[in-house]
Amino acid sequence: MMNNVKKKTNSKLKETIKHSLSFKLVGLVATIITVSFIIFSIAIYSLVRQQLIEQEENVTQSISQTFENRLVDIPHTLQISNVVPSLSPNTQRILEGRAPIAANEKTNIFSDDILATLASRDTTVLIYNPEGEIVFSNGTLPKDADMPNYDAHHVLNLQNIDGKLHLQDYTKIYSSKTRRLTGYLVVDNALTKSNAILRRLRNWMVGLSVGAILIFIILSYLTVNSIVKPIKRMSRISRAVNDDPNSQERMPKLRREDELGELADNFNQMLDRMQAYIQQQKQFVGDVSHELRTPVAVIQGHLNLLERWGKDDPEVLDESIKASLQETSRMNHLIQEMLDLTRAEQIDVQYPDEVTDVNEVLTRTVNDMRMIHKDFKITYNDALAPNTMIKMYHNHLEQVLIILMDNAIKYSTDRKEIIVDASTEADKVEIAVQDFGEGIAPDEQSKIFNRFYRVDKARTREKGGNGLGLSIAQKLVESYHGKISVTSQVGSGSKFKIEFPLLQK
Ligand code: ADP
Repeated sequence: MMNNVKKKTNSKLKETIKHSLSFKLVGLVATIITVSFIIFSIAIYSLVRQQLIEQEENVTQSISQTFENRLVDIPHTLQISNVVPSLSPNTQRILEGRAPIAANEKTNIFSDDILATLASRDTTVLIYNPEGEIVFSNGTLPKDADMPNYDAHHVLNLQNIDGKLHLQDYTKIYSSKTRRLTGYLVVDNALTKSNAILRRLRNWMVGLSVGAILIFIILSYLTVNSIVKPIKRMSRISRAVNDDPNSQERMPKLRREDELGELADNFNQMLDRMQAYIQQQKQFVGDVSHELRTPVAVIQGHLNLLERWGKDDPEVLDESIKASLQETSRMNHLIQEMLDLTRAEQIDVQYPDEVTDVNEVLTRTVNDMRMIHKDFKITYNDALAPNTMIKMYHNHLEQVLIILMDNAIKYSTDRKEIIVDASTEADKVEIAVQDFGEGIAPDEQSKIFNRFYRVDKARTREKGGNGLGLSIAQKLVESYHGKISVTSQVGSGSKFKIEFPLLQK
């Protein structure tokens, strides 16, 4: 059983390695580089070889031509006695026991000695009689070397002798006088230098290619690994988060400015955001149940009361029904506000192209408020240019203003006065709602935008607040790329300010 599991894990590992990005990429790079090097090497080698052989062909052919020119002058069948004097008067002199021609004895005859020109060359000249027997040879080829046999008069051939290239030039010699076949001339060029150059080139190429391929493979492995490693890490972290959504594992800072660095940052941000979202959601459900518990408990209390004694007591009956109705309407209000909040979170998608005239909405809302709250003095200072527009759905601006003015009224004390200001500054529209009520303590000011947050739970409940108004306002304002802020002093009042980017014409 254990063994089986182990085997399975092993084969899985092998599979993963085979499908691993590093394996694939390094394999690909290695193949491409190897193939390119092979093609490149073959091309260069062939080019060099061709060049070298072309040169040697010219040399071999000109040697052969020189010999042929001499040999065709011999009218008889070629044999050592007529070949040597024809090729080398100097050799003939030595053979005859005379003094060789001195170097300073600049005679025609000496420059005529074509055998001397062969001294430093790796060229073998073989001359055969028409029977195919060697009558002259200057070089290293074995004397019994078989004479090549061709039909053509003249053949230049590249041959491989003992793994080395040779150029062989074969010519049939016809006497220029009698036009009869007098023998054969074979010039064999051992290509020693070219062979050495080609061998060295081959060795260099193999050595360089193997070295370069190895270096490239190592480099590509390092590069690919530096890419694959963070990806593997990300994969491991996402697996960990998958297993435990609260996992705090994150990508370490990659310290690289490329796409991977960005991906790692985004990955971390995404995880943070996702977990914050889950947390928010949990919190929301908790908050909602908590908020609903009080009205439900109140209604239940009254119903119990009714059940026990109230049915027959019109006073209790009346009071309980009134209280229960009040609580249900509060619940209704709460549900409406929660809906608003949810909607406020998805605005971008719904109203991308709406445009609103700020002054128009402000005037209307202020007037509505004045109507409802006749006991309040609501001032509107409009310092806006005509047709000041912002990119916002007008109902949403109205909703924000109502929340702020509603609060200003709710939390006002003796001085029942509200001032609404509107102005433009640079590329922004600023709207302020100021009251002279109870104010908010500095440490509370940042919290009042949180969901369900109320400074004084009991008091605000009395006033019908759920602690959702400002979070709805904030969500709405921020959805339209605006900002909301508060300045306040306990006892003197508060000023809520919102600003939006001005719509450029
Ligand atoms: P609520 O529905 O309870 O008013 P909000 O989110 O609108 O909820 O406000 C949150 C809390 O902020 C309120 O409970 C209140 O304590 C405080 N607050 C809001 N506006 C004002 C204001 N103009 N003056 C004083 N306190 C305020």
